[in-house]
Amino acid sequence: MFGAAVNVTGRLFCTPAPGPGRYPQHVRHADTLTYLDHAATTPMRPEAVEAMLPFMTERFANPSGSHRFARSIRQVVDECRDVVAEVIGCEPGEVIFTGCGTESDNAAIVGTLQRHGGIAVCSAAEHHAVLHAVEHGGGRVVAVDEAARVDLEALEAVLDDDVSLVSVMAVNNEVGSINPLADAATLVRTRAPRALLHTDAVQAACWIDLRAITPLVHLMALSAHKFGGPKGVGVLTARKGTVLAPLLQGGGQERDRRSGTHNVPGIVAMAEALRLTDIERVAENLRLTKLRDRLVDTLKGRLDELIETVPRDAKIAGSAHVCFGGVESEALLFMLDEAGVCASAASACASGAMEPSHVLAAMGVDPRYARGALRLTLGRTTTDADIDRAIDVLVDAVNRLRGVSP
Ligand code: PLP
Repeated sequence: MFGAAVNVTGRLFCTPAPGPGRYPQHVRHADTLTYLDHAATTPMRPEAVEAMLPFMTERFANPSGSHRFARSIRQVVDECRDVVAEVIGCEPGEVIFTGCGTESDNAAIVGTLQRHGGIAVCSAAEHHAVLHAVEHGGGRVVAVDEAARVDLEALEAVLDDDVSLVSVMAVNNEVGSINPLADAATLVRTRAPRALLHTDAVQAACWIDLRAITPLVHLMALSAHKFGGPKGVGVLTARKGTVLAPLLQGGGQERDRRSGTHNVPGIVAMAEALRLTDIERVAENLRLTKLRDRLVDTLKGRLDELIETVPRDAKIAGSAHVCFGGVESEALLFMLDEAGVCASAASACASGAMEPSHVLAAMGVDPRYARGALRLTLGRTTTDADIDRAIDVLVDAVNRLRGVSP
């Protein structure tokens, strides 16, 4: 068993895709649901499920142990680190495995403030994993433009020697806009040269080559369940020489930067999912741009009082964010849910309850339209048939809510 376990690369990353019926839950899901909520989470890739299974059964050793079995698993974790680093475009030693995107964001922000003092700055449209951490530390929140991108003049105005960290997300989780990270990086370098630049790239991995982002930032957060890996595992990259106070005290794993026994199955599946996402990214961008455009253009043709919140050239391919006048999101989502269409309005929150969107408020969306916001997000499993069905169900639901007879 040990001998077979040592040379893992072939087994880890060259497993064939599972045959039909191997994962019956996928089949059932596809038959009954039209899933357009990929920004909340996207289904695991079968190859990632396959890759992680041995590490939940016979290959269970703790990689921090000293025996041969443990060392073989440590080697697997290091191979995964190499794969992740290659896709991110950083050194393997700059990859820290964490428990989720929220932890990665918190580790970057809290870890910087605890180690270096000073003040954190972020944009008003950040995910709560960043926004709450910055606000909790008494930080500064900067305005965004009408597409939820950081306002560079407002950012420049708050940068000074007191600022130790700036956090600007790569892609907004609610409306899908892409931030001008290169411009933000230049501002930080010139106006607050002491400060670290962190980016929450949790929504970026499926759409943007992370290698283009990495040289711009000191810290970057990723979460596996947004790109076909499992929930409960993430990455924080920390550029060489970037020192943070660790959030967790304990066994000193991840070179004292993140204590806690490694989630080996999660790390294996995450690495496999990220590797495949990187290979397919360009083709998927093209395929899903067409589907997204058809979805939004058809809705615009069949329904009036519909606004597209962010221009398409300012956002990722997988995001369709629209607002309907004269419709309440909550009622619309209820009707979509009844028809088996999964979508969302603001981002998912722990209670599942609807909360007013801080992102739309920061963008200055007319409240009459903001009340009827709908986020439809596409992903790897989205098909033409999903788009057809979503259009029919949505047009019917909006007309019924507006009291228009079919
Ligand atoms: N940041 C962004 C932009 C997100 O969209 C999410 C999840 O929705 C998170 C952070 C949190 O990631 P996780 O669910 O892994 O904690």
